[in-house]
Amino acid sequence: MNSDFTGRPITASMESYKLVQRITRLERMVGVSRMLSSTLDLTQLLQLIIQTAAELVGAEAASILLEDERTGELFFAASTGAAEEELLKIQVPVDGSIAGTVFSSGKPLTVHDVRQDPRHFGGVDQNTQFETRSILGVPLQVRTRCIGVLEALNKLGNSTFDDEDVRILSTMASQAAVAIENARLVTRLRDANRRLSELDELKTKFISIASHELRTPLMIVLGYASFLREQDQGDMGEELDMVLRSARKLQTIIDQMTNLNYLETGGVELQQECFVLQSLLEEVAEEWRPLLESKQLEVRMNLPATLIEVCADRAQVSLVVSNLLNNAFKFTPENGRIEIGVRPHTGKVAVSVVDTGVGITPENLNRIFERFYQVENYLVRHHGGLGLGLSISKEVIEQHGGRIWAESVPGRGSRFTFTLPIDWGKSQSRRPPSTL
Ligand code: ADP
Repeated sequence: MNSDFTGRPITASMESYKLVQRITRLERMVGVSRMLSSTLDLTQLLQLIIQTAAELVGAEAASILLEDERTGELFFAASTGAAEEELLKIQVPVDGSIAGTVFSSGKPLTVHDVRQDPRHFGGVDQNTQFETRSILGVPLQVRTRCIGVLEALNKLGNSTFDDEDVRILSTMASQAAVAIENARLVTRLRDANRRLSELDELKTKFISIASHELRTPLMIVLGYASFLREQDQGDMGEELDMVLRSARKLQTIIDQMTNLNYLETGGVELQQECFVLQSLLEEVAEEWRPLLESKQLEVRMNLPATLIEVCADRAQVSLVVSNLLNNAFKFTPENGRIEIGVRPHTGKVAVSVVDTGVGITPENLNRIFERFYQVENYLVRHHGGLGLGLSISKEVIEQHGGRIWAESVPGRGSRFTFTLPIDWGKSQSRRPPSTL
């Protein structure tokens, strides 16, 4: 017949009581294991682990100590007892503590009377007024690495921690360790993500400010360089052409920066304002004129005399016109012509940029508005660019409730048109569209 640890025979009713108790503990563990795998909040997770641990092994309290990766010592990450705040301040040395012994050996340890054990680290009890009598410590192991220790303190009911307690706490610790590691990884990932978003926002702001601030002095350089080029009697022609070419490159880079910024922010909130369309077109054309003229491209403005007021995001509409002029400039050979025109179109106003350039084949006419689409293979292409200008222009125009499209005769030239809604009643012209 089996006997208990005092030598008394174990009766059938005692056996069945133990069995029921074991089943209850196992059921509780299954429940906890489900909760552990579904909780990613570290504080909540640690509380759940210590409370269940204390309950399952019948202990007065339980604690989790984790390794401080900077100091290599252990710190209290959670505890069921009072004085939790005091505990959080305490660093437990790996050498010279029971938790440290469990941590470095990676094996469970039961100490029935800590007063008799020289490894006991008394610093904790002194600071918390908690009297530790017995300890069961098990390692928190993730694969081969120990990340901390789960401890149950003071077995209740005047008994001692037994093998069954060791088994239960170890099983719980192995699940808890994985859950803790996952929660920590999620926390780190969230932090890294937040930091990345902050940096990304900073970068976007920096690019908008930098591209805006670069544009103004560049326009002055371009303006003066082209003026000097016109005045030149022949002795500085080459040098001035070089200045113009470099400035042109810079302008394209600035436009690409603005385009990419737009793309990365996933579009922008429109800053609606009312302005005269002709002024905006004149302004952008003026910015581009030196470059266009450096390639002997004739620029014609075909604008109606009556002022047309549109309410839209001025900077974004400028970007669209700039993108169209940039393309017209790139794809039109020397001595060509570029024309900017305005006309009414199905209740809206239509702006077109027409060039006498290389043109676009019918199968490419719609595809050019796709992101990163370029007709020329990028390996052999002569023109700069990322294949973004038109797709971004399309997004901007559609955000305004307009449309953009292209018509072309290959070898003869292209016409890009976009429309913008216009409140004819509010327009300064105060005239119906037919009189434009
Ligand atoms: P990219 O920066 O490459 O110019 P876009 O989106 O502005 O990007 O244009 C996409 C492609 O459409 C260009 O690479 C070019 O092949 C074609 N394209 C755009 N505008 C013109 C034009 N005016 N004449 C001929 N081809 C053009």
